[in-house]
Amino acid sequence: MKGRILIPALVLLMAFAGAGLLWTSSGEAPRPNVYLFTVDTLRADHTTVYGYDREVTPWLEQLARRGVVFENCASTSSWTVPGVSSTLFGAYPWQLGIWEATAKNSKRQGLPSEAVSVAEVFRDAGYGTYGVAANAHISPERGYERGFEHFENVGFGPRFAVADALARIQADLAQDERPVFLWVHLFDPHEAYVYSPKHTAILDPDLKARLGEPPLDSLLMKELRKDPRTVSGQGLADLVTLYDGEIHATDAFLERVSRRFGVGDDDVVLFASDHGEEFREHGRLGHHGPLWQETVHVPLVLAVPGMPAGRRTEQVSLVDVATTLVAAAGLAPSEQWVGQDLRGDVSGARFAQLGSKHVAVLESGWKWSRVGDESRLYELPDEHTDRSAEASERAAGLKAAWESRGFPVWEPTAMESDATDEEREQLRAMGYLE
Ligand SMILES: [Zn+2]
Repeated sequence: MKGRILIPALVLLMAFAGAGLLWTSSGEAPRPNVYLFTVDTLRADHTTVYGYDREVTPWLEQLARRGVVFENCASTSSWTVPGVSSTLFGAYPWQLGIWEATAKNSKRQGLPSEAVSVAEVFRDAGYGTYGVAANAHISPERGYERGFEHFENVGFGPRFAVADALARIQADLAQDERPVFLWVHLFDPHEAYVYSPKHTAILDPDLKARLGEPPLDSLLMKELRKDPRTVSGQGLADLVTLYDGEIHATDAFLERVSRRFGVGDDDVVLFASDHGEEFREHGRLGHHGPLWQETVHVPLVLAVPGMPAGRRTEQVSLVDVATTLVAAAGLAPSEQWVGQDLRGDVSGARFAQLGSKHVAVLESGWKWSRVGDESRLYELPDEHTDRSAEASERAAGLKAAWESRGFPVWEPTAMESDATDEEREQLRAMGYLE
């Protein structure tokens, strides 16, 4: 059913009550509903689940109580296109041919035709597939709608735009008798960090009085990034508080979504973010730059019926998401995917990349990083001390893992149209275009 029909939450709750495990029409084994919730720009260490001292993520904590927290999950890059692509397509950025900064040079490249979306596998297995994405980069014309029977991109839209799109999907979902795969990607807590009387004020009641003129929350990070040194002391602390307020609001939003869609213990739920955010730990603000843990270390919490709750420390990656979700539903992962099923033992290094200049290889608490021709080895979480001299074998091993990484490489799809003036302006405002 299409159209803007808003179904009262109570009716929907009744419709979904007890609808956790759904039998397939052929009478095969029941399949769980699968929910993939991703948010933009959320660094792991700003969630309570990952040790943050501000209570900004109560919903995520609740999910973690019945799920598994992957303490060491890496994004495959430091911005949206590669991070989200790896999540949905189970492949690394260089395989998908979109690892060069698509937005920055405004090249119009789509996903390669060989790449298989997690949504395609669910759809082909008889799932109803629904996706709502808030981030203009994740556009249908680039191929992100692949496998989704219903897909909506709300641009760089705020939470209410996502809520609107979800309300439209709920009408269809209510009538769908198949098991369901739903992906929701929220643009928040991406900048600009908007002050909220409900979500920011509780973190610092005095912040509103200090926002200044123009107010700190109306400044785009692009302006602040021009000279990050201008943001320090109380100003930097206030910026972080605004970011945390967005995280709190986003967490509350997902709590509402989970309630309205009747997400429960019988469902597979995975929460992650596409990359993190820098607050001058290495001098910079924002993301879409060097692969420091501020931008690479992302939260990943997985809840699967019957799987004991707990915490895991192996190095994992967003590239593991597609394989895990499909396997958790009892289906066979695509042979194109390079990720591992996170329900079982996982091993090996994980990679991150920004263009051809920045590379990072992570394994067992170590990180080998190359910027241009210069490489370093870090023993995490310390990313200031180069340990490549004292742990030269470790450095050589991680470097070798990168050089022998293998995996098929595909050509991105050429797109017919160039970016429109409006799109360019939007990208410029977000700091993606010079
Ligand atoms: Zn992003």
